[in-house]
Amino acid sequence: MKLGLVIDLDTCVGCHACATACKQWNTSGTIGPLADSEPYGKDPSGTWLNRVRTYEVGDSPDSKTVHMPMSCLHCEDAACVTVCPTGASYKRVEDGIVLVDQDQCMGCNLCAWACPYGARELDQQQGTMKKCTLCIDRIYDEQLPEAERQPACVLTCPTKSRLFGDFDDPQSEVSVAVRERGGQDLMPELGYQPTNKYLPPRNPKVVAKMERRSVVGLLSSWVNKVILR
Ligand code: SF4
Ligand code: SF4
Ligand code: SF4
Repeated sequence: MKLGLVIDLDTCVGCHACATACKQWNTSGTIGPLADSEPYGKDPSGTWLNRVRTYEVGDSPDSKTVHMPMSCLHCEDAACVTVCPTGASYKRVEDGIVLVDQDQCMGCNLCAWACPYGARELDQQQGTMKKCTLCIDRIYDEQLPEAERQPACVLTCPTKSRLFGDFDDPQSEVSVAVRERGGQDLMPELGYQPTNKYLPPRNPKVVAKMERRSVVGLLSSWVNKVILR
């Protein structure tokens, strides 16, 4: 099995419901709490497993606002796993989910530096690394109705812009969406082979202006600038 997400950049409205639902579920779940500092103060900070960034793509009057949710992409060749000195970061053989063993993590931050997508955040209060688990404590919970065995972000998205499933199954919802809509990897040139895929915006004028570069490719370069510190 190869579990992951498909995110539709055409229909995402940037409402942040996915990020909030993620934080709520994971604060009370297996890797929580996700710390916050000064949440209502002038300089709030906190640990999030999913963040939504917003870009303006193309030139006026054909420009388009694109919202780009980003969490761990559960890479096939995960840089975060390669660099981890304690073995705390690992990729599960049975379903491809990348996790951090909270008991083995020493909070050295190497994995966060290695991840090109900015998908990991050090919990400043606990001193351990946090990241998306695909809500592993929901998706395998047989006490939940089958329809609810999905990541919190997928369940909550009001525009159904997020799909979850098995990329190894050619008939799964995620595989069909990637085939039919041209799902793309984020920054494929890096070679980490992310599992999660993005569906590009449909606006034909904007896509035409991109010439040889894909919309996601262009977003990638922006994301690259924004995230790499
Ligand atoms: S909940 Fe859905 S529409 Fe809202 S930001 Fe997340 S992916 Fe986009
Ligand atoms: S997105 Fe980053 S944290 Fe997730 S598997 Fe890839 S390298 Fe690791
Ligand atoms: S912060 Fe934790 S998970 Fe990341 S590299 Fe260091 S020990 Fe490994």
